[in-house]
Amino acid sequence: MKPVTIAINGPAKAVESAESAEQEERNEMAVPKKRKSASKRDMRRAHWKLETPSLAECSRCHALIVPHRVCPECGYYNGRQVLKVKEK
Ligand SMILES: [Zn+2]
Repeated sequence: MKPVTIAINGPAKAVESAESAEQEERNEMAVPKKRKSASKRDMRRAHWKLETPSLAECSRCHALIVPHRVCPECGYYNGRQVLKVKEK
């Protein structure tokens, strides 16, 4: 931080002091105090699993598509063609 001059009630004083040095120390990242137990670690990881992808049916060609994306089969989105699809 820059030193701030204050001119209320008397001469201007530079307010820098030990406060800014303390601030720099506090800028270090938060560090856990204790190691988590194997149980707590596994409880955290219990929610870490694969999900089945949500799929919707294309309203035009009825292929399974990712919702809110252009259909890769026919190039349509929201009832109009937005992509040209190469014929195989
Ligand atoms: Zn389609």
